Amino acid sequence: MSYPRVNIDCYKIQHNARLLIRQLAKKNISVTPVTKVCLGHPIIAKLLLDAGAKMFADSRIENIKRMVESGISIPKILIRTPMLSQADEVVKYCDISLNSEIKVIERLSLAATQLNVNHGIVIMVELGDLREGVMPDRVINFMRKVLPLPNITIRGIGTNLACRYGVAPDDQKMKLLSELVDEAESVFGLKLDVISGGNSASINWALDNIEKTRINNLRVGEAIFLGCVPAEQAPIEGLYTDAITLSAEVIEAKVKPTFPWGERGINAFGEKEYVKDRGAVAQTILALGRQDVCVTGLKPPDGISVVSSCSDHLIVEAPNASLMVGEKVTFALEYSAFLASMSAASVNKVFNNQPVVYESSMSCICSN
Ligand SMILES: *Cc1c(COP(=O)(O)O)cnc(C)c1O
Repeated sequence: MSYPRVNIDCYKIQHNARLLIRQLAKKNISVTPVTKVCLGHPIIAKLLLDAGAKMFADSRIENIKRMVESGISIPKILIRTPMLSQADEVVKYCDISLNSEIKVIERLSLAATQLNVNHGIVIMVELGDLREGVMPDRVINFMRKVLPLPNITIRGIGTNLACRYGVAPDDQKMKLLSELVDEAESVFGLKLDVISGGNSASINWALDNIEKTRINNLRVGEAIFLGCVPAEQAPIEGLYTDAITLSAEVIEAKVKPTFPWGERGINAFGEKEYVKDRGAVAQTILALGRQDVCVTGLKPPDGISVVSSCSDHLIVEAPNASLMVGEKVTFALEYSAFLASMSAASVNKVFNNQPVVYESSMSCICSN
């Protein structure tokens, strides 16, 4: 079996999803699994379905199309505001999309009318992380423009936090979102059924939330796969944090000086790092590079440290372990490394511990 590879433990992912879905259901909050990190892979989608998912969310239309084509029939929500140029595909493959531009919704309306379908809209509200969303004081007016559009239904409102600036969800922000729901419902005499309060970074807020708010949905990716709350990088109680690992193979192991010789310029990536002469060390090269993974998101095993990387080579040092050519080293992954390695065509994806109903063998290898 070839390397580098991402090892995906299907059992652990399913456990994580099931537990989050159950625990948040006790707070009347539905969990919509976000499949973008696994590119809408049908194996993952099916095991999340079995864990109790009632809807899938993805940021890319290609991934949603992939799920539709593999027979996933529960509703799908596009969680990046659609490109004007993709309106036709969005209404064809998605039941709902998150939106923040009236121009886009007008185009979706046109496309939905042509296709004779109804498309659901969740209006995103800006609550301080400064990514997508309508400013809170503009939301009611925005809705007023959306309401008359044919073949468009406003399903709810939502927000996204923690992704750009790491702004955390709190009672005040969630209260503001809830008040906007109340206001919209009373002004327009409608009922909003999706109040989507955020992503994995909102889980702890939601679990501790004793106060009553209108939030009834979270869109959750990272926590299902990595078992962590992103901003805090803290494990969530009861979840596996080792469902995903990455293994790479040693291709060179030699004792070498630590100090380069010859005239030094910048490296292939425009960098020139300061180097301290530490004498000779055991230097090991793994067949893994920046084309495969975001190196800063790799968490090496105890006793091994990552010292440098290029497109195809990862240089590590392990003072007390003698790594040999052919040996495999397995890393834990932070979100950045997980995202990049799952998206890289050069990294094999190995699905272990699959529920027997899907595959007769215990693992299978798929290129993406
Ligand atoms: C990626 C994404 C999510 C999921 O975020 P996680 O931190 O992986 O839970 C939710 N909402 C939007 C809009 C996203 O782009």
